[in-house]
Amino acid sequence: MARYSGPVCKLCRREGEKLFLKGSRCLSPKCSFERRSYPPGQHGRDAQFRRGRASNYDLQLREKQKVRRIYGVLERQFRRYFGQALRRPGLTGSNLLSILESRLDNVVFRMGLAESRSHARQLVIHGHFIVDGRRTNIASYLVDPGQVVAVRDESRNRPYFRELRQATEGRAPAPEWLEFDSNKLEGKVIRAPQRSDIDMTINEQLIVEYYSR
Ligand code: SF4
Repeated sequence: MARYSGPVCKLCRREGEKLFLKGSRCLSPKCSFERRSYPPGQHGRDAQFRRGRASNYDLQLREKQKVRRIYGVLERQFRRYFGQALRRPGLTGSNLLSILESRLDNVVFRMGLAESRSHARQLVIHGHFIVDGRRTNIASYLVDPGQVVAVRDESRNRPYFRELRQATEGRAPAPEWLEFDSNKLEGKVIRAPQRSDIDMTINEQLIVEYYSR
């Protein structure tokens, strides 16, 4: 599956906020956004001062782009997710976020087995995980409630996962919709993620408006 492979920190500067795409670096003084919080490009710094009042369309577009970038999803797939969200009962915006949260790379990230979603995606693509006992290397795989995601036996003894098991102490707990066993390095999705489980500042209604134009 295609993915964005350009400069990552530029995306935060473009969206005007930290999107935490690079794991621990985002919390360190090396974060580009901390040093240059203006938009990228030759006239980025000037644009910061010239910006007038954003139109509704601008706001909708930026929110959609922001969420796409947080989850590392390209436009075509994001639109497909929106279509799925529309067909589900309930609020389309919340459904969309629930679908994005159910992606296998996000579940691995939420389990604390990777420092960012892109790192989780890389681990998944390299075949380190099984879902309900079956090797799954598709980052966009949607994990259903009741399914168990675990590190493959063959990968458990790799230095990365060995160190991870030792480093689980003091780590932020997994979200409520996930049951994580740090000894076994496996997690079970106990229910579908809901809007209230998502701790990011997202106005999903703007995304719904963007696609409903
Ligand atoms: Fe964004 Fe992280 Fe880069 Fe900072 S370090 S600009 S938060 S991706």
